[in-house]
Amino acid sequence: MQTTIAIPLQKSSWRKTIVKNIVAPSAAHQPGQVEKYMVNIGKQINLFFIACITIKKPSLIIKLFKQLIQLRKNTWGTPVNKMYKVDRLYFDNLYTPGWPSIAYNNYIKDELLRHAFPLDYDGKLSVVFFAITRKCPMRCDHCFEWDNLNKKETFSKDELLQIVDIYQSQGALQMHFSGGEPMTRIHDLVDAISHAKNKSECFVVTSGFNVTAINAQRLKQAGCKGIVVSIDHYIPELHNSFRHHENIFQQAVDAVQAALNAGLVTTISVCVTKTFLDGGHLLPYLQFAKSLGVHFVQLLEPKSIGHYADKDVLLEEKHMQLLETFFKTINHSAEYKDYPFVLYHGYHQRRVGCYAGSRSIYIDSAGYVNACPFCHTKSYNVGDILKSKNKQAPVKENLCPRYGKIA
Ligand code: SF4
Repeated sequence: MQTTIAIPLQKSSWRKTIVKNIVAPSAAHQPGQVEKYMVNIGKQINLFFIACITIKKPSLIIKLFKQLIQLRKNTWGTPVNKMYKVDRLYFDNLYTPGWPSIAYNNYIKDELLRHAFPLDYDGKLSVVFFAITRKCPMRCDHCFEWDNLNKKETFSKDELLQIVDIYQSQGALQMHFSGGEPMTRIHDLVDAISHAKNKSECFVVTSGFNVTAINAQRLKQAGCKGIVVSIDHYIPELHNSFRHHENIFQQAVDAVQAALNAGLVTTISVCVTKTFLDGGHLLPYLQFAKSLGVHFVQLLEPKSIGHYADKDVLLEEKHMQLLETFFKTINHSAEYKDYPFVLYHGYHQRRVGCYAGSRSIYIDSAGYVNACPFCHTKSYNVGDILKSKNKQAPVKENLCPRYGKIA
């Protein structure tokens, strides 16, 4: 049954705002139904094949599949029929490697082993968020790196590459390079991507600053798979004031177009504040995202850390309910089939736990390793690992302190 979202549209002229600011409005192209069907069949055969060679025991495989089907149901509800093809790879989640690829197979193998042998198998890292610079021209209201910004850089380029090596040896399938603003360090960023690309899919998490058409092409040529551009409002003035920068909205919109033109998997990320949700901005924002032609929209809940420390920013129950309804409706309803795939981690975290610490880590711009960018659970400094003889990072980091570990 389809659900209609009861979200009041703002009376503001968001349509005019969009038309004024977007160069080439178009929804992200998805494969046709037959192609999607074939991809899903292909992935299931792939999964079965990997299970056979990894787990080997038929009875355990059957038990495992039942468990995974239930987990998927708890995580996503009914299956989401949205995917995007970029460079012969199909993406149906920002944090799962594209299929078919070795990275995808390694991801599946690791998940199967985790569930089949929960007591004996430690698991590998899947996603590493790596803040490669402390430089940033923004002063965002919600910045989680606030206390680290605009100080002397922690790592040289050579050290950045060594850190990539350390986490690739732990299995990192995706490296998400952030900051500060990673595009302030474009030359080192391009080198880090070239260095990492053979073992990990590389993404850049940016405000859109310095993502010109040429730089987007440079990222792509270096082997970058995708980009995540923060856009916290579809009304330019509100985004600019949130980021304390006079024209970052236009730069972010231009960055999205440059990234799409360069052939990058393109996501926009929004910090869904109470004011944003209470103001009825969610659906207009999605219309805006569709007009941009992005593949994914990531909804991030504000957390009281960094620049938001000690501020009353945590969402209330009614906001989370609204986000959950939105997430399910946009991803599952036929009415929204041509809209971007909506990612809302809070939905999964409250049902099945959090990946942070067990599958993913965050290296902040001072080198401290945390479960995720929003938790500030420092466990060690990777700079100390660089100075050590064996250059081995601990296998276990602190886990997510809020939601507990995912199965
Ligand atoms: S949130 Fe990102 S873009 Fe904003 S000030 Fe912090 S590091 Fe810079």
